[in-house]
Amino acid sequence: MAIKINETHDPNLTSWVESSNISGNDFPIQNLPFGVFKRTHVDEEPRIGVAIGDQILDIAACVRANLIDGPAAESCFSSHLNDLLALGPESWSILRLHLSRLLRADSSVYQAHYELSDQILVPMSQATLLLPVEIGDYTDAYASIYHATNVGRLFRPDNPLLPNYKFVPVAYHGRASSIAASGSEVRRPKGQIRQLADDQPVFMASTQLDYEVEAGIIIGPGNQLGAAIPISQAEQYIFGICLVNDWSARDIQRWEYQPLGPFLAKSFMTSVSPWIVTMEALAPYRSPAFSRPLGDPQPLPYLFALGDQAQGGIDLTVEVYLCSSLMREQHIEPMLLSRSNLTDMYWTFAQIIAHHTSNGCNLCPGDMIASGTISGPSEDSLGSLLEITRGGKELLALPSGERRAFLEDGDEVIMRGFCERGPYARIGLGECQGCVLPAELPFKG
Ligand code: CA
Repeated sequence: MAIKINETHDPNLTSWVESSNISGNDFPIQNLPFGVFKRTHVDEEPRIGVAIGDQILDIAACVRANLIDGPAAESCFSSHLNDLLALGPESWSILRLHLSRLLRADSSVYQAHYELSDQILVPMSQATLLLPVEIGDYTDAYASIYHATNVGRLFRPDNPLLPNYKFVPVAYHGRASSIAASGSEVRRPKGQIRQLADDQPVFMASTQLDYEVEAGIIIGPGNQLGAAIPISQAEQYIFGICLVNDWSARDIQRWEYQPLGPFLAKSFMTSVSPWIVTMEALAPYRSPAFSRPLGDPQPLPYLFALGDQAQGGIDLTVEVYLCSSLMREQHIEPMLLSRSNLTDMYWTFAQIIAHHTSNGCNLCPGDMIASGTISGPSEDSLGSLLEITRGGKELLALPSGERRAFLEDGDEVIMRGFCERGPYARIGLGECQGCVLPAELPFKG
């Protein structure tokens, strides 16, 4: 079931793109994540590229120069990844192998045509990275039992974890239209808020704006309506993974969430990192599924597969940083708020896919399914301010002397993700960044 480690993962590989060989960079030759870019200030169509060091390899330009070919390479004459996604893992893998061989330091193609690099590389510093996928549907899961318990305790002190949690990989249907690429500013939402338990609600700007650090999978080929994906095959439907910031207005959420779940508290915006790291690139960093403590129920049979139990987890570290406008003025580095790991998820992505489609619901190329907030068991691994400040009761001290219950205007949230496991190369997901703007936005019709 899991993708096998192959020559593209060889930790000894280096590239003729020198910046990719620098230790600690997110995009060594073993990574090769896909994104969509255009050159900044140039009037041109967005196109598909692969990150390599501080450069972007223009796939269509490589095809035009006869450096690579095949259906997957040709599907990259597009301004989004959806055609490539629909092709499936065998095609993705062939393209990855071609790209890896093209970019290697000993590439015979490159050595014979080294002048080509100006045609096929664009410096990231000169490019704008866009939303790489046309996301038709977005589902947000709730896979961290630590997050579910922490949040449950704040919203329902006497009943933190609902009885379905250990049986059902619960999720809600999110809003796809308001998913934006990293770098997009987030406008503070307005909504109905009830400040005290006995008050009437008022319509006002949220004062409890929060982030949630998550990982999102991008679906490759979809399934036919009515035909559930068995858990043993679920991973073949995943193209890759990105970082997700599920911005959340806690005051709006608290009033609206019962009985149908999140609605306007989250649909105002969701940010994603611009590079999709493929499941093949992640092969060396797979881990067992969550080890359920004694006494927890086993997953029901349709959510259980030996392969998934053995390797369904992903050893992905995610970090969240905060930088206020005062910190930027004072040239203070962003402050690390948390570091957590996707292996702390109670449910694997394969289980979430098997459950999502178990009623016959179809997934489509380009759909995104997010993990839910990645929180771990320790105090420094809490993936939202709601958890860090205990619902705003314990203020967070910033290095500028400011304090935070929730996000203020001008606050910048930066998420980073990476996989690291010897002897393999360290690969990164890049950044998911967003800055909070004040609530006013004039209506434009
Ligand atoms: Ca979420």
